[in-house]
Amino acid sequence: MAQVAASQIYGRKNSKGINWITVIAMTAFHVGAVAALFYFDWGAIIAMLALWYISGSWGIGMGYHRLLTHRGFKTPKWVEYFLTVCGTLALEGGPIFWVATHRIHHQNSDHDGDPHSPREGTYWAHMGWIMTGKAMHHDTSILKRYVPDLSKDKFHVALTTWHWVPQVVVGLILLAIGGWPYVLWGVFFRTVFGLHCTWAVNSATHLWGSRRFATRDDSTNNWWVAMFTWGEGWHNNHHAHPVSARHGLAWYEIDINYMGIKALEFLGLARDVKVARINQQLEEEAA
Ligand SMILES: [Zn+2]
Ligand SMILES: [Zn+2]
Repeated sequence: MAQVAASQIYGRKNSKGINWITVIAMTAFHVGAVAALFYFDWGAIIAMLALWYISGSWGIGMGYHRLLTHRGFKTPKWVEYFLTVCGTLALEGGPIFWVATHRIHHQNSDHDGDPHSPREGTYWAHMGWIMTGKAMHHDTSILKRYVPDLSKDKFHVALTTWHWVPQVVVGLILLAIGGWPYVLWGVFFRTVFGLHCTWAVNSATHLWGSRRFATRDDSTNNWWVAMFTWGEGWHNNHHAHPVSARHGLAWYEIDINYMGIKALEFLGLARDVKVARINQQLEEEAA
């Protein structure tokens, strides 16, 4: 069977129709996030900050991105599964879909087939692509082509189907501990804030910032995105050296996610940590 090229599936020019479930969920979460502002509570704020770190740094930065997508380091399976469960709390979909979208992004960044390039509009790259784009509905052949590794793993397959369950469990625990203010801050506000931080990696760090490496995309290093994403904003470094578990390459490029990986290594829970050097040449057509 002939394979359909990513350039014929992804990108704004190929999008049509509205992903209603996504639109409804995003609207509901934004309403919940605004409602949180009317229920100020210090305990709820602390729960929100802790869960933002757990879902954003352990889950998305260390887990979904640097471990699952790029294999920048190795861990025992139980650590990989734990980080992945943390990732589901960000409400960015299950691991197999996320990894597929991100590998397609690296293959085609800012060219035909990129699921979320700001060359097709800033709003499109930020959140439009999940509302109407097709990257929310990869078919099986795409998943097999881009994510053959995780597609064979029963845990990742199950978690991709049931990715919303850990979020519901966390919500119920928060409800039991502190009532609705904890749920509004710890689930709704934290999720929406975290989503905009991640989305800024797709929009802002392909638009604004500095470029250390002459990559064939528009990726930039952007300190404020890095600050809100635990280090993911050193995105030009990352596009130049995708496999490197370290994204902040200069001493002043603070990279909390890399510190987390180093902490795992110190505890004997991570090994083979791949690190690019600041003066390293661009990799030959990196995978
Ligand atoms: Zn990028
Ligand atoms: Zn990446």
